Amino acid sequence: MSDLKGKTAIITGSTSGIGLGIAQGLAAAGVNIVMNGFGDPDEIETHRTALEKQGIKAIYHDADMTRPNEIKDLISTARTELGSVDILVNNAGIQYVAPIEDFPPEKWDAIIAINMSSAFHTIHHALPLMRKQGWGRIINIASAHGLVASPYKSAYVTAKHGILGLTKTVALECAENNITVNAICPGYVKTPLVEGQIADTAKARGISEEEVVNDVLLKAQWTKKFVSVEQLSGLALFLCSDAAENMTGGHISVDGGWTAA
Ligand code: NAD
Repeated sequence: MSDLKGKTAIITGSTSGIGLGIAQGLAAAGVNIVMNGFGDPDEIETHRTALEKQGIKAIYHDADMTRPNEIKDLISTARTELGSVDILVNNAGIQYVAPIEDFPPEKWDAIIAINMSSAFHTIHHALPLMRKQGWGRIINIASAHGLVASPYKSAYVTAKHGILGLTKTVALECAENNITVNAICPGYVKTPLVEGQIADTAKARGISEEEVVNDVLLKAQWTKKFVSVEQLSGLALFLCSDAAENMTGGHISVDGGWTAA
């Protein structure tokens, strides 16, 4: 494992769920953290100070991933306050579940902006810093829905397929600069994002919430287990290591066999 101590990571959407877990994993490896995302200010501050107990520096930036100017400021704040951007984890994401005829156009726009276009903007501003220092790791949190579809998730599935295309393209553009770009494709992880869609899916399909968990979510996951945040954080740490330096442009599924079937 390369020594990650003293490097700086930006994790978008790290006030909750998978992003927070990845922030905790990287902080434990000695990486300074830029947290981002929405939430209760007191809770965010509690998470930030908990990260600093690992002996690293952690700052919080409230950039809204739908706003390119705020994303630009997120990257430049990391550079001015923590020295650079060595690791970029594009993780912020939202979900909305509805048949396409009922899908509100503003929800489509928000999902495409947050789940896909924000990664263009973060990479656009962070890559020059990585090239300059001759090292970088970009990890895009895609989804099993980057590889296969489910009904009623048109915007999400579109955005996640798009993020895999961005991953491959940028990987080629910086392949000779010691910068790797990979995507992680999780199956279902029990975070607030999934908790919310259990109710929505029940409504869209006219079934109970218990049926959604057993017959829809875990039906696809052959292990019959939710993926854990810790499993994803461990994989992100591996992708930052020297062992992964020749892995680029790829996607790694952590989906209990879902996309193997
Ligand atoms: P979550 O709801 O727990 O966390 C989402 C994070 O994104 C939060 O910090 C939230 O504040 C932030 N966010 C939302 N809108 C934002 C905006 N406009 N600007 C900045 N931050 C914003 O969800 P999660 O399950 O941890 O999801 C994280 C990522 O993992 C998402 O990209 C999601 O699509 C992906 N994913 C999740 C699952 C799952 O089952 N939970 C599976 C596959 C992929």
